[in-house]
Amino acid sequence: MTVNGSRIRQWQNWAGTESCTPGLTMAARHEDDIIAAVRAAADRDDEIRVTGSGHSFNAIACTSGVRLDLTRHRGIVSLDRDAGEVTVRAGTTIAAMNTALHRAGLAVANLGHLAGQTLGGAISTGNHGSGRTHPPLAGEVTAVRLVRGDGDVVDLTSAGGDLFRCVRTALGGFGILSAVTLRVRPAFRLRVAERPEPLAAVLERFAHWPEEAEHTYFSFRPGDCQVHMRHMSEVPDEASPRAGLKRFAGTAAQVRTAAGWGGSIPSRDYVTDSWRAFTVWEPARFSACEYAFPLAGSREVLVAVRDALVGHEPRSPYPFTVRVSAAEDAALSLAADRPTMYLNFATPNKAGDVAMLRRFDAACRAHGGCPHWGKRHFATAEDIRDRYPGWELFQRVRAAVDPDRRFVNDHLRRVLGITGGGRTGRKR
Ligand SMILES: Cc1cc2nc3c(=O)[nH]c(=O)nc-3n(C[C@H](O)[C@H](O)[C@H](O)COP(=O)(O)OP(=O)(O)OC[C@H]3O[C@@H](n4cnc5c(N)ncnc54)[C@H](O)[C@@H]3O)c2cc1C
Repeated sequence: MTVNGSRIRQWQNWAGTESCTPGLTMAARHEDDIIAAVRAAADRDDEIRVTGSGHSFNAIACTSGVRLDLTRHRGIVSLDRDAGEVTVRAGTTIAAMNTALHRAGLAVANLGHLAGQTLGGAISTGNHGSGRTHPPLAGEVTAVRLVRGDGDVVDLTSAGGDLFRCVRTALGGFGILSAVTLRVRPAFRLRVAERPEPLAAVLERFAHWPEEAEHTYFSFRPGDCQVHMRHMSEVPDEASPRAGLKRFAGTAAQVRTAAGWGGSIPSRDYVTDSWRAFTVWEPARFSACEYAFPLAGSREVLVAVRDALVGHEPRSPYPFTVRVSAAEDAALSLAADRPTMYLNFATPNKAGDVAMLRRFDAACRAHGGCPHWGKRHFATAEDIRDRYPGWELFQRVRAAVDPDRRFVNDHLRRVLGITGGGRTGRKR
């Protein structure tokens, strides 16, 4: 266990949009270190928050109490081919898990855009990719190992009922995930087909667009008439020659257009390993806000939110990204109980650009959206509590599991409406 008691050591998220000064910083390599950190927080009568890779765009990981860095608590615990499951320590990055699975001839069925985040952070915030038959990542979780506020460790599976439903998208509010078990399948390759096409044509066939490929999403800037469409489907083919170069060229073209240097993102067609196809390289720092909506009726929402941004300055050089997922049953899942459309909007991190994010956020909220727990948003519990069928269940189970509110920070007080608790620091 590494302990750093410095009171002035600042922590900052990846985007550079949030920072905090924890009263105590600790780092865990083993589960015993996690238990010791939880007990240290209890001794100080302080709150405790885990930080993973810091890839959340909001203050969800921030604390003035105890910060526990989990990024060294990593590695594969076990691989069960027959059951189709992998168990990883929660501080393992998705990238590291992907590499280990690849060596074993296995893969996760669907992933989001980035592989730098930890499994614990990704599952706690509702991380998702795109594909109408695929749930968010929490929907692939078959078991978790949780360190609770009293230092006890519990293993939970679907037999764990309500607690298991809640802990899979828990915003760090239930305790600390020590390990996570995910469904895996034999490794596979995807054909990636990208092309520009008119927005009007996509809107016309919007109800059927998610069926065009197993994984599909598109992006366009507010005001643009063209979208950049991406279809990915499983194929038995070998990887294309220079597939890595093609992926890299695509990202470079996106960066060029986002930086306002002109050019367009070219059509591309290549075959590569699934995990390489899902994830992209993110060289630039930015802010992102994302809301989830019921897939039914989402065309109207997309048009209304787009219209709320068009004509306003400054224009974002970054696009909207439109993705879909199947339903899942985690209590605070963004896809709780219904197929879902996700609308993501990114902006540069300059002061004036926050106005754009606020306009986007307000339009999404006005149309019934649920904010991504790991992205920047301005919603409070009052705005969103009626939008989650599992909201009351989550609050009830959370209060029972963490009666001292050891895992509650200011951000959770705002977005979940939890009152009281937090840092008292009586014993510091
Ligand atoms: C460039 C970029 C691209 C992204 N792409 C996508 C995408 O495609 N799809 C998508 O859905 N999201 C995406 N995100 C959002 C990102 O996946 C989430 O914010 C994710 O939570 C980040 O994981 P992390 O390890 O950085 O967690 P952190 O941001 O460090 O922590 C997030 C929260 O989880 C809690 N937490 C972390 N580990 C544990 C644990 N072991 N036990 C309990 N609580 C824990 C923390 O306390 C905190 O509350 C993207 C973010 C970035 C910066």
